Amino acid sequence: MNKSIRDDFPILSRSVYGRPLVYLDNAATTQKPRQVVEAIADEYYNVNANVHRGVHFLSQQATDLHEQSRETVRRFINAHSTNEIIFTRGTTESINLLARTLAQYDSNTGEVGEVIVSQMEHHSNIVPWQLNGFKLRVIPMSDEGVLDIDAYQKLFSPQTRMVSVTHVSNVMGVINPVEEITRIAHEHGVPVLIDGAQSTPHMTVDMQALGCDFFAFSGHKIYGPTGIGVFYGKEEWLDKLPPYQGGGEMIKNVSFEHTTFNELPYKFEAGTPDYVGSHALAVALDYVSQIGMEVIHQHEAELTTYAVQQMQTIPGIRIYGNSQHSTVNCQLSSAGPVSFNVEGIHHLDLGTLLDRLGIAVRTGHHCAEPLMHRLGVEGTVRISFGLYNTIDEIDTFIAGLRRVIQMF
Ligand code: PLP
Repeated sequence: MNKSIRDDFPILSRSVYGRPLVYLDNAATTQKPRQVVEAIADEYYNVNANVHRGVHFLSQQATDLHEQSRETVRRFINAHSTNEIIFTRGTTESINLLARTLAQYDSNTGEVGEVIVSQMEHHSNIVPWQLNGFKLRVIPMSDEGVLDIDAYQKLFSPQTRMVSVTHVSNVMGVINPVEEITRIAHEHGVPVLIDGAQSTPHMTVDMQALGCDFFAFSGHKIYGPTGIGVFYGKEEWLDKLPPYQGGGEMIKNVSFEHTTFNELPYKFEAGTPDYVGSHALAVALDYVSQIGMEVIHQHEAELTTYAVQQMQTIPGIRIYGNSQHSTVNCQLSSAGPVSFNVEGIHHLDLGTLLDRLGIAVRTGHHCAEPLMHRLGVEGTVRISFGLYNTIDEIDTFIAGLRRVIQMF
């Protein structure tokens, strides 16, 4: 990766406790390049006006930026149409949107619908379904974090309403075979949501190649701002589902007796949208596209492979979702996060002491308690990479880890 890329991220040159920051918490959120921060400032300084409802110059300019951003997202994930791109607050809101509207759509059937999820889901792909009355059926996984496809095939029943799985595990970095999962679901006539929170920042995601019916991702995990994300849905589904929230923008006509709804995508976007956020997200997507998602993926795969190799030389370390076979290692964890524990040391203590050395990692259950139960742990330490991380930083992390372990 070109060294000047780091200069785009001013925060990377700050120090923490007098030491250079080594930021290895990218799965939680990524840092922002100047281009994104400047786009936000520029829009507030020079363009700001509410979108869609104004005849005046600024409103039209802000609307153009917002709608061009929708087109940038469409192109980035290769959706058919901008009608399929709904701006939300992020992955969590996108999944809540689907769970709520699907429950409403199903409400006249009187049956409790089932949703197939995997053992490794983030809470935001578990709780929204529960909140909306769906029963969860769970795809089991092996100790290495490989989903059991035979068991998956047996989970379908006449009550199955959705398959909802993560593309990449936010704990283990495992890339799930979502094309195969989608194909099997479609053979059963069941639609599929893919949680793309951890895949979109690290690899090319292509809606037409994946074939899924719904897809969700968060702007802040792909170098964009917080508070903006995307819900993708095939037009045929979005046409059928009822609106999510009510308010301005999502209506065609309102009376006290009857309201009619706007066309796609506005039917799902009640109220003033985060039009500054959508524009900044588009700038972030242009930024990574210019570098190239393949280049980013390759760079991060090299970092992950190197990190795992180095970590495996440390006595007492246990890496989760990575088998002892190194070929599987590289394949499984080539999309970011690596989780581990060190025998006899609490993950929180490890994380706290690494922080004192300027190394930012995440500890805990990573919003995946059912996965922690499956792995038989209370929590882990997780490192995760972004496009700006370097081999030198991994060396600093490994040296820091050895030092912390010696202290115990
Ligand atoms: N799904 C996965 C796999 C995640 O890793 C995360 C966040 O870490 C989410 C969903 C939720 O994303 P957000 O908090 O941006 O809505």
